[in-house]
Amino acid sequence: MSNVIIVGGGASGLIAGIIAARQKHKVTILEQKDKIGKKIYATGNGKCNYTNLIQTPDCYRSNNPNFPLLALEQFDVNKTIEFFKQLGIYPKERKGYLYPNSEQAASIVDVLTMELNRLKVKILCEVRVEKIKKDNDFLITTNKGKFQADKVILAAGGCASPNLGSDGSGFLLAKELGHKIIKPIPALVQLKSKEKYFKTLAGVRVEAGIKLLINKEYVTEESGEVLMANYGVSGIPIFQISRYAARAISENKKVELVIDYMPDLNWKEVYQFLIDRIHSNTEKNMEELMIGLFHHKLSYIMLKEAGIPVDLPCQKANQKQVSDLVNQIKEWHIPISEPNSFEQAQVSAGGVDTNEINPVTMESKLVKGLHFAGEVIDVDGTCGGYNLQWAWTTGYIAGMGL
Ligand SMILES: Cc1cc2nc3c(=O)[nH]c(=O)nc-3n(C[C@H](O)[C@H](O)[C@H](O)COP(=O)(O)OP(=O)(O)OC[C@H]3O[C@@H](n4cnc5c(N)ncnc54)[C@H](O)[C@@H]3O)c2cc1C
Repeated sequence: MSNVIIVGGGASGLIAGIIAARQKHKVTILEQKDKIGKKIYATGNGKCNYTNLIQTPDCYRSNNPNFPLLALEQFDVNKTIEFFKQLGIYPKERKGYLYPNSEQAASIVDVLTMELNRLKVKILCEVRVEKIKKDNDFLITTNKGKFQADKVILAAGGCASPNLGSDGSGFLLAKELGHKIIKPIPALVQLKSKEKYFKTLAGVRVEAGIKLLINKEYVTEESGEVLMANYGVSGIPIFQISRYAARAISENKKVELVIDYMPDLNWKEVYQFLIDRIHSNTEKNMEELMIGLFHHKLSYIMLKEAGIPVDLPCQKANQKQVSDLVNQIKEWHIPISEPNSFEQAQVSAGGVDTNEINPVTMESKLVKGLHFAGEVIDVDGTCGGYNLQWAWTTGYIAGMGL
């Protein structure tokens, strides 16, 4: 039986505490905020999308893509569902996304807290870990004095949404212990553009296909509802590609989005569609021709960007103008200047280099007795419950691997 300190009372630290205590270890959780699980309350818009039935390798991203897969084999979605069922969480499913049937994120925090209390895990809030030193055992310096431990689980999160707790101090603590940190960048975040037309487009929502180009080369694509804002673009498909865009920008690469506003039709079909529309609406000007097709603000900017006067009688539009408009509809290029800040991001990508962590125990390969769990590790998930799944998986493995 070891004396275990867990740094961080977030998702990964809480499950790690339960598993470690069930293994008969003496466990203390040190949490810098006034209560544990603060971020969990905010997840899934307060409903907590705690995992997802659809699990494919591309849901988890890392410099070392095999690492998350090895970990997930040990504690997968089914084991997660079972773990929470035993604690009282009956799952509600929507398109593979799982939520507690109560649709309250607080239910997740409540059942974890009840189990920690039952197992007599000591939870100390408003205790900020400032330094971890390893000699024979660990000496942990905090704002409330020093603690000793045989083993430490570093579950301090990343640096996204620091108002909810994780402020990047986990990276610093790991670095001081000799670990390499893959540079953290905001992920699951909005993307900013300097294009002036966003002031006009703010508030428009549109279903679209989005391709990401880095240095003009295709990288990935997504589709779904895009939200236009005065600073740039938001929405789930933007969140999904944001970590690649953010990483490229941090490496001074050129990032562009190519938006397809009519993804169900190919270029030629859209061209023919516009020609037919012109023939059956001869009395309309170009702006009027677009009414009912796109949000009027979007139509206005499309015409402007294509260099077509809005009051041009549509039957006077020449072939080049129609082609330019199709290009605008099918391949609207948006230069991206930067991701939104860590304050707005749901997760951070980057973190402790997984080459220095044993995937079977989450133990450091450099410091014996030091384990990692959650977002502090260089793995980030896509939107849809994958980041919490990563927290549950690694918290479980770290607790078992002590
Ligand atoms: C608004 C929002 C919505 C989200 N929605 C979802 C969702 O629906 N589904 C999903 O899968 N993911 C979601 N996520 C992501 C998910 O919440 C995180 O990836 C996950 O909580 C990470 O768990 P963690 O335990 O690694 O870190 P955290 O939950 O960040 O916990 C780390 C804890 O460590 C504490 N800590 C940090 N440093 C110290 C220190 N030095 N001393 C003491 N304590 C310290 C922090 O205060 C914090 O409580 C969302 C994130 C946000 C911000």
